Amino acid sequence: MHEISIVRNVFDTLQETYPEKFGRISKVQMEAGLLSNIQPILIQNAFEALIMEEPGLADIELEVVQLPIIAHCETCEKGFEVVRHKFVCACGTPSRKIVQGEELQISKVEFFGN
Ligand SMILES: [Zn+2]
Repeated sequence: MHEISIVRNVFDTLQETYPEKFGRISKVQMEAGLLSNIQPILIQNAFEALIMEEPGLADIELEVVQLPIIAHCETCEKGFEVVRHKFVCACGTPSRKIVQGEELQISKVEFFGN
């Protein structure tokens, strides 16, 4: 399953980043752009499966925030939200310049007892 390797990867990264504080992580927030094709529910399921293997992670709350797709309009010089794969700004200018929506990243980490 694709999602379990993503979740495993996230916690491997956190372990490397916070070798001292890894055991005190209380909450992890991830951001997944809609173009990354990441389903939050599948990430949650994968996390549940990972906890079965590594019970030490059971105290961690995992949150996945989905980010809308934003493309940049050259005419308006600002971003607009892409809905239903319509890469056209409200002004009528088409754009494929994606500024948000492809990311998959750890956006926030909280710890117990600071
Ligand atoms: Zn525009």
